[in-house]
Amino acid sequence: MPSDSGQDAGLRVAYAVVEVYPYLKTGGLADVSAALPPALRKQGIDARLVVPDLPAFSGVVSHRERVQILGPAFGASEVAVARARLPDSDVPIYLIEAAELFDRPGNPYVDENGIEYADNHRRFALFGWAVARFADGDWRPDIVHAHDWHAGLVPAWLASIPGPRPASIFTIHNLAYQGLVPAAQVPELGLPSRFHDVDGIEYHGGASFMKAGIYFADALTTVSPTYAQEIQSTTGGMGLEGLLSSRSSDLIGILNGVDPELWNPATDRLLEVNYDANRLHLKAQNKVVLQSQFGLRADLNAPLCIAISRLIEQKGIDVLLDVVPDIVDAGAQLLVLGSGDQRLEARLTRCTEDYPGQVAAYIGYDDGLSHQMFGGGDLIIVPSRFEPCGLTQLYGLRYATLPIVTPVGGLADTVVDADQTTTPPESGNGFVTRGPAGTDLRSTLTRAFDRYHDATRYHQLQQNAMSADFSWTRAAEQYAELYRRLRRESI
Ligand code: ADP
Repeated sequence: MPSDSGQDAGLRVAYAVVEVYPYLKTGGLADVSAALPPALRKQGIDARLVVPDLPAFSGVVSHRERVQILGPAFGASEVAVARARLPDSDVPIYLIEAAELFDRPGNPYVDENGIEYADNHRRFALFGWAVARFADGDWRPDIVHAHDWHAGLVPAWLASIPGPRPASIFTIHNLAYQGLVPAAQVPELGLPSRFHDVDGIEYHGGASFMKAGIYFADALTTVSPTYAQEIQSTTGGMGLEGLLSSRSSDLIGILNGVDPELWNPATDRLLEVNYDANRLHLKAQNKVVLQSQFGLRADLNAPLCIAISRLIEQKGIDVLLDVVPDIVDAGAQLLVLGSGDQRLEARLTRCTEDYPGQVAAYIGYDDGLSHQMFGGGDLIIVPSRFEPCGLTQLYGLRYATLPIVTPVGGLADTVVDADQTTTPPESGNGFVTRGPAGTDLRSTLTRAFDRYHDATRYHQLQQNAMSADFSWTRAAEQYAELYRRLRRESI
């Protein structure tokens, strides 16, 4: 037990979220909600998950038991809360049952054809309402910690409760997705009409779930210190910079961690060959397998660049595709795993056809393959336009697959450029472009390839990368500190 466990004893936190890895994941949010509650429990905090009762959860939980009936609401004939257990987890999970709204195929936000559900505003309004009711039930949390726009109405509903209520925290994982609601649908959110105000959820005549979370939560966090600054500026604030700046003193950035059980090259069962910092030479065997599997030229000297990403503009995939000829000319290789924007997918496919043996791709989502790529790649390219935290560069560091990144958000906070000092000892752990996305990826790649061919110095960078501490324990300690402060302030 950590030294603070005495203070944390009895501290109860409800963690309201829509995605939890490995059951439901569309992005890094799912990794965070899988890792943070168990890390908090290790600190002595009673952290529990509250999720919508989506098929991905109802299909895996056991010991399901209804603990609260909330009645009909938001078009659902019955809303209830069930307590259950997730496989191999000691984190209790509560499911918000509302069959008509949550028992649907597809991912949480879109149907099987990728079309957004037309009633998402009602579905996630119900979620916010039900979480607030749950927090007023038998198990009373001290803190309700809501995540991203889907849970943005949780703090608003909590604020509507008269008398004592739990403190609320809202975490922004990506400000780009705001949950905007047209004016005509605002009444369907069910909140008292006084909430539809400029000092409230109102946004350009309609409403914004994201704004609701930011406005009503007692404290705000986001997933890296640099992103916490960026979102207060006109370039990064996506229309909410004014509100975010006004709440500056309540907003902190806490870097995400890496789950060492899942992401450890020494024990990762998805790798052909395991390795660690003392047996780094074994990593090459994973590269051999990848090259053969994807028809890339069998050449251990060719730097193998990888990218694992949603294929969208935010991630700078267009910028990456622009430099494919440079990668090829340098004798390097590129392997991309991802899916997303159809035009980017088509451009990527054309690149693989233009450069067989040097460029390959798997268009789709494949967790196992992502591990193999971290295991076998030499460099991971993350040229994002903005990046709240970013996980792939962290996994790259752990697997000694050095990141090449733009200096934004969590990328800037975690990757230290190899050339920040020109003389050994090497203090970097990757390569950072000297400008925003689209400015000097080419020259950064050249620097990375040069260093790759300088084996001793490259090896030192890999050692630095593998020794960096991005543990959830560190992140959980920062969240625990925030929880304690909020509890003190609310007493
Ligand atoms: P975001 O949440 O914006 O998508 P992050 O870097 O924070 O970006 O998290 C992305 C997560 O999804 C990482 O765990 C990454 O490995 C994983 N990922 C992204 N695309 C794929 C894919 N096509 N197949 C497997 N894993 C993927």
